[in-house]
Amino acid sequence: MHTDVPRLVAPDRVADLVALVTASGGEVAETVSPLDGSTLARIPQSSLVDVDGAFARARAAQPVWAALGASERGRRLLEFHDLLLAEQAQLVDLIITETGKSRRDATDEVFHAAMTARYYGVHAERFLRRERRLGAIPVLTRVDVNHVPKGVVGVISPWNYPLTMGFSDGVAALAAGNTVVAKPDAQTMLTALAALEVLRRAGVPDDVWQVVAGPGGEIGTALVERADHITFTGSTATGRKVAAGAAERLISASLELGGKNPMVVLEDADLDAAVDGAIRGCFGNAGQLCVSFERLYVARPVYHAFRSRFVDAVRALDLTVGLDWSCDVGTLTSPAQLEKVSAHVEDARAKGAVVLVGGHPREDLAPWCYAPTVLEGVTESMDLYRNETFGPVVALYPFDTDDEAVELANDSVYGLNASVWSRDGHRARALASRIRSGSVNVNEALAASFGSLSAPMGGFGDSGLGRRQGPEGLLRFTEVQTVASQRGMGVGAPAGVSREKFAAVMTSALKVMRALRL
Ligand code: NAD
Repeated sequence: MHTDVPRLVAPDRVADLVALVTASGGEVAETVSPLDGSTLARIPQSSLVDVDGAFARARAAQPVWAALGASERGRRLLEFHDLLLAEQAQLVDLIITETGKSRRDATDEVFHAAMTARYYGVHAERFLRRERRLGAIPVLTRVDVNHVPKGVVGVISPWNYPLTMGFSDGVAALAAGNTVVAKPDAQTMLTALAALEVLRRAGVPDDVWQVVAGPGGEIGTALVERADHITFTGSTATGRKVAAGAAERLISASLELGGKNPMVVLEDADLDAAVDGAIRGCFGNAGQLCVSFERLYVARPVYHAFRSRFVDAVRALDLTVGLDWSCDVGTLTSPAQLEKVSAHVEDARAKGAVVLVGGHPREDLAPWCYAPTVLEGVTESMDLYRNETFGPVVALYPFDTDDEAVELANDSVYGLNASVWSRDGHRARALASRIRSGSVNVNEALAASFGSLSAPMGGFGDSGLGRRQGPEGLLRFTEVQTVASQRGMGVGAPAGVSREKFAAVMTSALKVMRALRL
């Protein structure tokens, strides 16, 4: 059934939002809604001169922002949290209109962005507090460790979760006392600008967070060439270019990249719960989610039971596309996505994979919509065996032993997220710890780890470098400075004591420190 799409975004609202882009030229790029293929907005494009200006203003504003102190910055982030929740309906409409995702998935974005603002708004002050450490000569050497903001952080984000991927990293950067220049993906500028408008009303000054627009290869690169730290979310291929640019300038970079995530169902799992988790984990946001599952390994004794319940559940999904709550899956966001997903499925089919359900576009619902698809008999010769599809497509495989499940789960260059299902929590956690992946969820698909803001999130291997969330997600935006203050005698042989005598004293002192386990 095709849900009617109301007039997407009011022209006045679009005009107000696009005015927030730092752009002076007059060049524009058009965006199109995946809900119906209609033109959504004409986004002003930034020039390199505009990017220079944004960085100059951000650099001038940074010491003032840092001087506010963590507590006051946190207060403004908590205000951002409150406004996000209060104004979620409009933001969610905009996210759906730009991405084509379900209302449930769009609402999760608001929740995750708000939770991040709350977490750092409440805890950043504690994480940033000066720490005392043991000095070279106990009592005489005092050591303070300071967390100093990097300066101006460049945030480059993708289209798939434009609110939370566009803001969660940057919010942590702000909490740590940095300013931000952000380059959201071209497809989802309106969401980024609407959230910017909320952030400014929450008390974040204009120059503290600025948004530039333009092609990734040009304007994204310009951020890498100017920032003091780059936080990038996107494909592994682009992440490598960003890392190379950061290495050239010797700046730090955090990279949240692709995945080919495995889910493992052991023979003692609650199959209904596992099927429910697989549905959410494979088809949320039409599979356009870095932590979603594209490989599903099921213990052979329950393989057939799981397969039949899973396929039935996929058939029962509501595939409507639109702004209301009924939609379960949503549409792919762009023609490029549809092309890639179709190519992966056709390649697998041509090489002998069996399509258990789906396996075709649903242009009757939206121009780039694709049916949720379950494959069986996928082999190494097929493109989607190893490569990220980033769509609503999952392959089922049986396994015989826990060791084989671990081996299969680890048979990937990626390591972003995984999921293990068993009624025996101890066994599942033991298996989880053997999977080379930045997060592993036990008896949940992805929300348990992703929603635990106090826990780090990121990738092993080709899935990235660095971590968002938790203290790690904040401290990456700081330089660590040691201030060591010496009093009394200096660190060396005192006047009148021979070097040989001093070495003997030092040897004894080191032995004492070893004995005291200092
Ligand atoms: P992408 O790499 O094509 O684009 C991401 C961003 O980088 C966009 O803003 C783009 O304009 C910009 N960009 C493009 N070329 C650039 C360059 N040379 N220098 C600097 N910036 C450049 O990725 P995408 O296709 O938009 O996003 C999908 C990918 O993102 C998937 O692989 C997905 O797994 C990954 N992803 C990862 C996470 C995570 O947390 N690990 C989250 C979301 C998406």
